[in-house]
Order: sequence, then structure tokens, then C-alpha cells
Amino acid sequence: MSEIEKLLAPVVEEIKKGKHVTFFNGAGISTSAGIPDFRSPKTGLYDNLAKLNLPFAEAVFDIDYFRDSPEAFYTVAEELFPGNFLPTKYHFLIKLFQDKKQLRRVYTQNIDTLERISGVDEEHLIEAHGSFAKNHCIECSKEMPTEELKKHMLNKHINNGIPLCPSCKGYVKPDIVFFGEGLPEALFETWDKDQDEVEVAFVAGTSLSVYPFSSLPSELDHHCHRVLVNKEAVGSFKRKKDVVLLHDCDEVATTLCEMLGWSSDLEALLEEAKTQFAKKAQLAKKAQLAKKAQLAKKAQLAKKDDKDDEKEEGEEEQNKEGEEEEEVNTDTDKEDKRQAIVDSLEEAISKLDIKDRY
Ligand SMILES: [Zn+2]
Repeated sequence: MSEIEKLLAPVVEEIKKGKHVTFFNGAGISTSAGIPDFRSPKTGLYDNLAKLNLPFAEAVFDIDYFRDSPEAFYTVAEELFPGNFLPTKYHFLIKLFQDKKQLRRVYTQNIDTLERISGVDEEHLIEAHGSFAKNHCIECSKEMPTEELKKHMLNKHINNGIPLCPSCKGYVKPDIVFFGEGLPEALFETWDKDQDEVEVAFVAGTSLSVYPFSSLPSELDHHCHRVLVNKEAVGSFKRKKDVVLLHDCDEVATTLCEMLGWSSDLEALLEEAKTQFAKKAQLAKKAQLAKKAQLAKKAQLAKKDDKDDEKEEGEEEQNKEGEEEEEVNTDTDKEDKRQAIVDSLEEAISKLDIKDRY
């Protein structure tokens, strides 16, 4: 029996009796999906942002800074945007608890929406720091559908890719909670209901350093079985029933599924997600190629038109036409640059893999 199995045994017994599980998720559960952990010093997102010359590292998620310079946020938003990452085994473990009707709630600090992507229903989900699922204008609060926001983001020709509210021209931002903004009401309302009712709690991949999320596990009733899954010991897990697993989240998910007899269910969820993910990536690639071909054709036609005009209109007009042609070329250049960004994103997606990941 492995160390993880030994430590998990009493908890597994409770789960087998039908007890419901509540999850408390931090960035650590998403690192194996390729999403950078905001606070880990070397791979941290903030370090990658150093190039942007921010006045202070957290500025990228600061609401006052965003009002003046939304570019910083929109530079990283592209990388963070949901859809570019495949959920991890740990996320699918949570989905399995939902499928088995033994999921009470998921409290997550993560804004990557991987819980949603793995199929966890909204009724079970509290995104304590908001998410990319919805977007609003910071001035008049008008909502912008995510598809529309994405279109703006990728179209660097217009306002540098920063989405503007169609009503008031204010900046639009996804509903992730920035520094300087209040946390969602739903967090407090649901916590009031859940606090004394949680039977089994899995706290994973979090440094438990961000208040108020950090205090939730300690507010749980003493009858609750609390399990900490993290690379290092954090918080105070010294109660008699507490289990501390200083291991990788995905490793724990695998072991737990084995112990519960859920391994094939977990595999099935993973396989299905990978297939869908690959299909989506393929479709996106196809659409991009089609667009590229269309643009190339357009540019060619524009050049041909210019040449025809030249023949008809003689030398006087030539200078002006030269300018027009140059304009078309500049547009093509911009499109090439945009394409390069899209390509590198795509490469990142393909690296996420698909086969060797798990
Ligand atoms: Zn507005």
C-alpha cells in the first residue's frame, strides 16, 4: 500500500458511505494543464510580465491600472483565455464526483474556467475570483458575449485589440475579480449555507495566502474530513481527522479513483475531452487557413486592379496608386503579424498534447 493510499483510506471509507465532497481549488491544480501558476516565482505569470514595464507586478490585474492602461491585461488575457487548455486529471476527478451525485460544491480561486470546461455544472461552482465566462463594460456594466470579446481581442487593427463597449465606449473586461474589486456575492451567500454542512473537503494546489478564500477551510466544522493536497504544507491541518498529502494533485486524483473503483470512468472522461479538444484545434486551424487564403486572394486582386487602372489612367495617377498599393501591403503585414501570434498560440495548444500528458 502506497503512502497516499494509506493516508486516504479513512476518507475513501467515508466517500464509499455516500458522503458528499466539497473542493477548494487553487492555481496548483491547473499547472499541469500548462497554465502558469500566478505566484510561483520562476514560472510565474508576473515574471513573464516583466517585459511590459509595469509599475508594479500586480498592475495587470489592478482595476485602477486597467482603467488607464488596459493593454497590459489584454496582453496576457490572450494566453489565459479558456479554450486554450485541457483540464487536468484532478478537474475530471471533480466532474466524476458530480456524475456520481456526490459533489456538494467547488470553491475555486482559479479564473481559468477549467472546472466548467471539464463539465462541472454552474450550480456546484463558486468562482471566488470570478471567471472569463462573462464580460462587462467597466463604465456602464453592459454585458458583452465572450465570442464578441474574443473577436475584438484578436483584431489588433481596431483599438489595439482592446474591446470597447458598443454603448458607451468604456473598456470591457472579463468578470475576473481584479485587485480593488469586491468578491462575488454568491461566494458569501453559498458559504453561509455550506460552512457547517461540508462532510469531506479536498483543499488542493493553493498557498492559502489570499483572504478570504484562505480562511474557508479553517471555518469548516470539526466533524468534517479535511484533505490537503499540495506540494508543501500550508494552513493549519492539525485536526485529528485531517489528512495531509504533500503530493502532485493529478497523482492523488489517480490514486483516489483507483481506490474508489473509478479508474475506467476517469480514463473515459479524459479520452473524450482529448478527442474533443483535438477536433476543436483542427477546426480552428482549418478556419485560419481558409481565412489566410482568402486574404491572400484579396491582396492579389487588389494588386491586379491597381495594374489595370495604371494602364487606363496613365502616368499622372501613378503616385496615388502607389500609395494605395502600399496601404494594402501594410494591411497584409499586419495580418501576417496577427497570424504569427495566432500560430504561436496554436503551437502552444498542440504542445499541450494530447497523448503524453497523462
Ligand atoms: Zn458601457
